[in-house]
This record gives sequence, C-alpha cells and structure tokens, in this order.
Amino acid sequence: MLSLSSLHHLSSTNSTTHHTTQQCPSTFLSSPTTHVSLPSRRTRNHTPVRCGTDSNSNLPLSHAPEKTSMNNLDASKRDVKLKIAVIGFGNFGQFLAKTIVKQGHRVLAYSRSDYSRAAKEIGVEYFSDADDLCEEHPEVILLCTSILSTEKVLRSLPLHRLRRSTLFVDVLSVKEFPRSLFLQVLPKDFDILCTHPMFGPDSGKSGWGGLPFVFDKVRVGSESIRTNRAEAFLDVFRNAGCRMVEMTCADHDKHAAGSQFITHMMGRVLEKLGLENTPINTKGYESLLNLVDNTARDSFELFYGLFLYNKNAMEQLDRMDWAFEMVKKQLSGYLHDLVRKQLMLETNNDQIGVNGISNDQKLMLPSPTYNPLQIPPSADNPEKKHDFVMVNGKR
Ligand code: NAP
Repeated sequence: MLSLSSLHHLSSTNSTTHHTTQQCPSTFLSSPTTHVSLPSRRTRNHTPVRCGTDSNSNLPLSHAPEKTSMNNLDASKRDVKLKIAVIGFGNFGQFLAKTIVKQGHRVLAYSRSDYSRAAKEIGVEYFSDADDLCEEHPEVILLCTSILSTEKVLRSLPLHRLRRSTLFVDVLSVKEFPRSLFLQVLPKDFDILCTHPMFGPDSGKSGWGGLPFVFDKVRVGSESIRTNRAEAFLDVFRNAGCRMVEMTCADHDKHAAGSQFITHMMGRVLEKLGLENTPINTKGYESLLNLVDNTARDSFELFYGLFLYNKNAMEQLDRMDWAFEMVKKQLSGYLHDLVRKQLMLETNNDQIGVNGISNDQKLMLPSPTYNPLQIPPSADNPEKKHDFVMVNGKR
C-alpha cells in the first residue's frame, strides 16, 4: 500500500506518458425535427473519452496541452488508501460505501438521519455531527445527497474545519448544477471532481463491471499530491471494472437528458399504467416490466431533480409529447384510410368481387364508433374493448 506522498515520485517519473484522447460526438438534439445523432460506437468502448473543452483551460481538448497525470499508471500499482467522508448516507451513499470499504479505504459518513447501525454493518464510521466528521480531516468529501438538498447541505458544512486542500466529489445525476455550485461555494484551495456513476443499487447489484462512470476533473491542482488523490479516488471505479468516461458536465447533461431522463420518464409513465405480469409475457414486455422496476424504486425526489436541474430535460419532455402525438396521428390516419375504403366498399356493395377484393376475404376493421384517440385507462372499462366489424361480413 502506498501513501499519497510516495506517489509524488511515481507521478513525476510518469510525466511524459500521454493518455489517449478521443473526440466527443458533438451533435445533440435541438428540436423535434432535428436529425437524431447517437453517440458513435467509439464512445462505448473502455477507453477514457474526453469531450468538449478542457475544464481548466477552456481550450478544446484536442488543442489543450496533455496534463501530467497518473492516468496511465496501472491502478494496481497505485494502491493508495484514502480517508473518504460520505455526506448523505441514504440509498446511494450506502451502496457506494460498501464497495469503497471493500477496496480497503477508510470510510466515514454523515447524514441528516441516523444511520449509525447501517454504517456499522458495512464497516463505516458514522458521525451524527458534521463538525466532528470534518475534524477527522478526510482527504475526500463524497457528496451523495439528493439533488434538491445538495446546495443546502453543502452550505451547512463547516468547511473551515477541513484541511485547506480537500477533494470534493459529487455523484449527482445532473452535472452542470453541482459544478457551478462547487465553483461558487468551495474555497479555491479545494479540488473538485464531478462524477456520475451511471448505475444504481439495482443495475449494479451484481458488480460494476462494464458500467459507465462519467467524470469531469473540474478543478484539480497540478501538484502531484492533488492529481494522485483524484486518480486514487477514480481507481475505486476503475478497479471495480467501470467503463470510465471523461466528459464535461455540460456534455453529460445533454446526453443524460436524451437517455437517462427519457428512461426514467417512460418508467414512471408505465408505472402509472399499472402493468401486470401475464401468462404470455413477451421478451419486450418483460423489459418494460424491468424498466418500471428499475426506475420506480428510485425516490421521486431523484426523478424530479433530473427534470428540474437539467436544463435539457424540458426539451426532451416536449419531444416525447410530440412523438406520442405523431404516432397517434399516424395510427388514426391509417385508420381513416381504412374507414374511407370501407365506406366506399359499402356504397359499391355488390361490386366487391369485381374490384378485386374477394368476397371470401374477411377484412377486419375497427367499428366507426371506436375512437382511437380516447383510450380509456382501465382494462375493466367496457369502452376500451376494440369493437371490430367485418367488411362484407357479420360478426
Ligand atoms: P435521493 O433521494 O436522491 O437522496 C437521498 C439522500 O439525500 C439521503 O442521504 C438523504 O439524507 C439526503 N437528503 C434528502 N433531503 C435532504 C435534506 N433536506 N437535508 C439533508 N439531506 C437530505 O436518493 P439516492 O438514490 O440516495 O441518491 C443520492 C444521490 O445519488 C442523488 O444526488 C442522485 O442523483 C445520485 N445518484 C443516484 C443513483 C441511484 O441509482 N439511486 C445513481 C447515480 C447517482 P437522509 O437519508 O439522511 O435523510
């Protein structure tokens, strides 16, 4: 096991090493009619991906000078143990703490509620007083509070009791908000690493291998002690096999609104429908049930945070409305065509055979009384039953 200071040397001998930089897909959705550009396959591999601009220099990354870092040093050779304080020890804070403890780091925790028992069970030292926790001088403060409470919690922390150089990390599911909050509230000596583990207690319950971990080194001092500390923290996720994706907070939020917010939105909508298991579930239907399961278990506060604190979410909501209407219109347009044909067939009743449609052909059409734009919500509602008639036949 190494201490942070012994890594100073390792880092400087490694200073000429360059890490691979990939260009980020730059196209995002801007309007319902805009061509949808998905991230290229290149962004889905296991190589760290850098997108947008360098957070320290504001230069596009392709022009930014390579930073001296230990990124390329095999994480196993950098076996640094950190003292990490988890602030907000709810569902996600505890989930992360379990793995961090297993990797041999010392974990302290503080939360609004009393989690001393849960903490003890997983080898975490629990503090019911934030002053006491900060006086332990953790090297890393890991904020796992709800999006909505983060500002209040951060402003209430006794920052003056921490060491002058402390690394602040957040795991919020939105990224531009904590980035600007940290830059605004934290003293200049503090380092800032904004992260988003893109998995949760459900999707990550059997391990984190291959799961995406997004991070943005918003402000990490150039001294090796600071870069090493940040890298040692990132090693928690590297060592667990996460797919490390380095990306600016702004890019994260654009991508997340088009993927994560839509996923949660669909999960919540389907939950309202009260989908049930049937004896004839298809694979597609099973995946819908799983989606409901995965999303509805998260707190509503988390979902609301994804909406309120990501400026791109509203646009995605509008797009979903638009898409739903388009599909409905497509269906009803098709239906109108059929009804029109049916009317024509009725007026030419005797000529059906002549017009090329066999009398034996039983063409099923919804009855004209069935209005597809008003789908009643419950299966028990008799109005919901699709009332079919047969063209040129009886039912
Ligand atoms: P959450 O409902 O978003 O947050 C719960 C945490 O926030 C608890 O620690 C809770 O403390 C604290 N909290 C809520 N209101 C508070 C207030 N008014 N004052 C002080 N603390 C308050 O659920 P979560 O799933 O645990 O998520 C935590 C963070 O992780 C969120 O920022 C979320 O975006 C992020 N995240 C979650 C997942 C996931 O799958 N769940 C995945 C990636 C990132 P107490 O329990 O002590 O009340």
